[in-house]
Amino acid sequence: MFIIFVFMNLHEYQAKEILEQHGVAIQRGRVLFDKKNTSKVADSLVLETGTEWFVVKAQIHAGGRGKGGGVKIAKNRKELDKVVSEILGMRLVTPQTSKEGKLVNQVLLSEDVYYSGKSEKSEFYVSVLLNRKTGKNMIMYSSEGGVDIESVAEKTPELIFYEEIDPLIGIVPFQARKVAFNLGLTGNAYKEMVKFITLLYKCYVSSDASLFEINPVLKTSDDKIIAVDAKVSLDDNSLFRHKNYESLRDYKEENPSETEARAVGLNYVDLDGNVGCMVNGAGLAMATMDLIKQSGGEPANFLDVGGTADAKRVETAFRLILKDKNVKVILVNIFGGIVRCDRVAQGIVDAYKNMGNVIKVPVIVRLQGTNSEIAKGIIDNCGFKVYSAVEFQEASNKIQDLI
Ligand code: GDP
Ligand code: MN
Repeated sequence: MFIIFVFMNLHEYQAKEILEQHGVAIQRGRVLFDKKNTSKVADSLVLETGTEWFVVKAQIHAGGRGKGGGVKIAKNRKELDKVVSEILGMRLVTPQTSKEGKLVNQVLLSEDVYYSGKSEKSEFYVSVLLNRKTGKNMIMYSSEGGVDIESVAEKTPELIFYEEIDPLIGIVPFQARKVAFNLGLTGNAYKEMVKFITLLYKCYVSSDASLFEINPVLKTSDDKIIAVDAKVSLDDNSLFRHKNYESLRDYKEENPSETEARAVGLNYVDLDGNVGCMVNGAGLAMATMDLIKQSGGEPANFLDVGGTADAKRVETAFRLILKDKNVKVILVNIFGGIVRCDRVAQGIVDAYKNMGNVIKVPVIVRLQGTNSEIAKGIIDNCGFKVYSAVEFQEASNKIQDLI
């Protein structure tokens, strides 16, 4: 069965801003968009941190940046200029990007927090996420931080711990203490970790995140606990409660079709398959995607056109679906309750006419509900390459014929 979760991902520097607002200790830094401003930005950072040792980090929506050359140390201003010019504007390829990589439009200039070098067991992994199976939040943590957590999970799963947290009760002090204990910490570092975990969990809850992943969490040589990296996914459905987060959206990192859809109020998620779908209602959209899979196809997208499937909306929806060159056939599956099927059918035919001859792929239209028979008549007589279907099964058979 299809399950789709829509997130808004943030850059590390933005995630760290949210952490800081919630009192979580972070590696301090400043974002830099233009290398002309390097010395000005560095000056302001040094004023805060007092160190001339920096780390420059590429800001892209993908991890593994260190491996791809997107994280570099600079121990004086000359090195800093050099490192900034190397990273800012580069195409960064990491194990998590495509072969083409991602253009680095901004870097995070941070204080070097590994002031006495890297030592054994100073980097930890901590994330807070939603466990959809148990309906609880979960802190996932490991003493093996700084490295790819997937490979830890594969090779040494016994080194990953989980702490489930009841969302109604919230984090209980003994749970934060257990985490710090299991990470092998003592003394001040232990106390700092308890505080870190407690504040991180609160930050996750109050920002309506689905994931806050800190890898590494660093124990400094003077026993401070700080977030060196931060990855966050915010739940798209909760963004209305956080109007200030909308400005954090980086359109350069998002799927252009999804951005366009959002602008006109369509609910669209791009997928990898070959059957485009246009459906009203999220539940019916999910059921339709299951149907497509059962017919041997793969959905190319999730698209909920909402309650008013008029010609203008239908046209926009067709244009979005057609941008995806993998689409071989389009299935329109609309239930006409309040919106009458004949109106929708007319909307589809009008959209076809208005668009000129751009829809080259076959379209199957299933309209069920009020006036569905009249609607079928409109579709059957429109003169375009549109196939009507009343039953789900008919639509399914037609997909099988056409792909
Ligand atoms: P990722 O590779 O995308 O996960 O980026 P990270 O922010 O996790 O950085 C990669 C690695 O760079 C970290 O695991 C650290 O080991 C290292 N690193 C990050 N900040 C510093 C720093 O201030 N000093 C030093 N020496 N290393 C750092
Ligand atoms: Mn990392």
